[in-house]
Amino acid sequence: MIKRAKSQALFNEAKELFPGGVNSPVRAFKSVYGPPLFIKNGNGSKFYDEDDNEYLDFCCSWGPLIHGHNAHFIKNAVIETMSNGMSFGTPTRHGNELGKLIISNHRYIDKIRFVSSGTEAVMSAIRLARGYTGKDKIIKFNGCYHGHVDSLLVNAGSGLATFGVSSSAGIPESFAKETLVLDLNDLAGFEETLKNYGTQIACVIIEPIPANNGLLIQDTNYLVWLRKLCDDYNVLLIFDEVISGFRVGFEGAAGHYTIQPDLLTFGKIIGGGFPVGAFGGRQDIMAHVSPDGPVYQAGTLSANPVAMTAGQASLEKCLELGFYESLHEKAAYLVNNMNEYFEEQGYEIHMNHIGSIFWIAFSDERIITSDQIEASKMEYFKKLHSFLLDHNIYLGPSGYEVGFVSAAHTYADLDFAIEVLQKGTNQIMS
Ligand SMILES: *Cc1c(COP(=O)(O)O)cnc(C)c1O
Repeated sequence: MIKRAKSQALFNEAKELFPGGVNSPVRAFKSVYGPPLFIKNGNGSKFYDEDDNEYLDFCCSWGPLIHGHNAHFIKNAVIETMSNGMSFGTPTRHGNELGKLIISNHRYIDKIRFVSSGTEAVMSAIRLARGYTGKDKIIKFNGCYHGHVDSLLVNAGSGLATFGVSSSAGIPESFAKETLVLDLNDLAGFEETLKNYGTQIACVIIEPIPANNGLLIQDTNYLVWLRKLCDDYNVLLIFDEVISGFRVGFEGAAGHYTIQPDLLTFGKIIGGGFPVGAFGGRQDIMAHVSPDGPVYQAGTLSANPVAMTAGQASLEKCLELGFYESLHEKAAYLVNNMNEYFEEQGYEIHMNHIGSIFWIAFSDERIITSDQIEASKMEYFKKLHSFLLDHNIYLGPSGYEVGFVSAAHTYADLDFAIEVLQKGTNQIMS
């Protein structure tokens, strides 16, 4: 049994300081065996906890670390920028450089605005959509997460195309009522909703690759059809690419499916491990953002030079020839090997992946909507997670979370993971 005495002591202390001992809820290990690990350093595909245990990490800070931990080219660039100061509250050339890099390599972005988190990006994009269209209501989908934005922490009410019910305390019902919640892949429900409410709906927001509630890979046709209906009803389409952006390719899901959204939101990878988010898209819409237009949006630390430098160093690497191909091959290697094994053993488990995002489903059907995920099967994940921790592999601490393969993962790492995952699934299925 691996020792976690120091993590346990630090967690006990943290519980006196922070609600639940954490500064973001899923870190508390509520749905797996604890204590949460307190990590002190990372390098490449691995990180190390305060008790000096080593873990092969497939969480990668929830996605930002596409190059693995402590990538030297990001660290060196950051140190150089930081030697000149941390923040000026003025424009800096670092913001221009990251902006140019993104806009010149992304077909679907004419203009961008940097913020400091994915949540802030989404919140601002929704405000912009409302300001641009002059309409108030928005549509979101069950199984998609868009950060902790008030009007998006909303569940479906009962019945088809109902107005939302807030899923967190502290959100006025009047806010929740501005959000309509639909099921993914429900073409008829979507069309009917636009027919009934299209004149009041500012935008539809979707994770084009839903990856916060399992990995619910949608059909291209469905997304193409959403795009068409949004056009027909004069409703903006927002792709929330906080996870998928720069992950499944430099142009994210928009590029993968070749669909032009009206607005896109980013976070995670865009900051190279620092707190950066962004929203961007069509020129005529972005012209409504202050100070050009009437939609207010601001941030004290927005486009912080250190964070911009980290984003630039990270994204420049992503643009190198063959970067994504080689990354995607690694994820496919892991997933295909595991799926062959699950099939051989007759286990009702499969892994799916798109690019370097993967997920373990305790089912053998293709899962595309959140209601297909059986909560009771999460008991398997809980046991598997514990087995993996004891064998030096770290996955995000919830069966609803996806995993990430980074460029730092080697084939030797993947072979090790395959071996441990096979043993782990044998144990939980026996
Ligand atoms: C992570 C995430 C967010 C929220 O980003 P934060 O930086 O955590 O605020 C929003 N949307 C999607 C799709 C995400 O994956």
